[in-house]
Amino acid sequence: MIKAQIPEIKALLSTPKNIIIVPHKNPDGDAMGSTLGLYHYLNMYNHNVVVITPNDYPDFLKWLPGDDTVLKFETQQKESKALIDKADLLFTLDFNAFHRAGDMEETLEVSKAIKLMIDHHQQPDDYAKYTYSDVSMSSTCEMVFNFIEMLGDTDKIDATIATCLYVGIMTDTGSFRFPATTSRTHFVIGNLIEKGANNSEIHNNIFDTNSFSRLQLLGRALQNLKVIPELRTAYITLSQVELDEFNFKKGDTEGFVNYALSLKDIIFAAIFIESQQDGIIKISLRSKGAFSVNEFSRAHFNGGGHTNAAGGRSETDMQTTIDKFISILPTYKQELSQ
Ligand code: 5GP
Ligand code: MN
Repeated sequence: MIKAQIPEIKALLSTPKNIIIVPHKNPDGDAMGSTLGLYHYLNMYNHNVVVITPNDYPDFLKWLPGDDTVLKFETQQKESKALIDKADLLFTLDFNAFHRAGDMEETLEVSKAIKLMIDHHQQPDDYAKYTYSDVSMSSTCEMVFNFIEMLGDTDKIDATIATCLYVGIMTDTGSFRFPATTSRTHFVIGNLIEKGANNSEIHNNIFDTNSFSRLQLLGRALQNLKVIPELRTAYITLSQVELDEFNFKKGDTEGFVNYALSLKDIIFAAIFIESQQDGIIKISLRSKGAFSVNEFSRAHFNGGGHTNAAGGRSETDMQTTIDKFISILPTYKQELSQ
């Protein structure tokens, strides 16, 4: 994709369609911002549009305009399947492989709808008729802006759409500081503010709505922080017992790994979070510079993502997982000591 296919997509969208928009499992700010931004845009035409998430997402995203219309596959499976079954078009946003949609994987696989992918993760699968994939992009939200622009509709972006897209660009760029933030990103953000996104209010809604127990959990995470200075690596662990102690809610650990990365001279950071429910240790990896956590995660922890931010999982217990992590690190000594 995609420029050459825009006339085709425009033709498709010129008559009313049943449209489903899906983000990845455990949706984050970019996943929800991009799906709801696109939802509000497509709703301006006479389409029947529904956002279906694989599962629930954090409370700090629940103020987003359109949140009340979102279906959750996990708890609304029958309704979701019926809608996907009669969908003409199916957009997959902020992911590029069906397994990233968790329990929705099979439903997406068997769907006969025309698929459109908008995503910025590495190594996209080849399931979509229209693939807009660009790993250099800051966020899927920036790409949805580009998509609307390619359709010649920037003047249709109102305060509602602008608010949704602002959220994902802000969260995926760590508030405009990660390397994927370009002058174009700032141009888009400026444009969204002009169209009515209230930047100060959005930052407040996302970042300044902490619960007391989340901050206490952060305190514990920071106490658990371990540093391996010779490999410029730092990592955090949180066990299920600790999560329970601080009344853990979905999203509470979002951003914790960045504290490990904020240490002077550290270029590789990890957080290991036990999930009794899933029977796994969920891993978030972050790096600075050329060290690819996407490749590290793909090679050792069954995951992936971007060069500087990736996720993964381990099916063994916490201690075994940490032992494995520590034993692998020296094989990256050269990359990590640069
Ligand atoms: P997080 O650590 O915040 O869960 O994820 C960091 C980045 O990696 C996000 O862009 C996320 O979508 C991606 N990611 C997280 N887990 C996985 C995974 O298991 N596989 C792949 N391919 N990407 C992941
Ligand atoms: Mn994203």
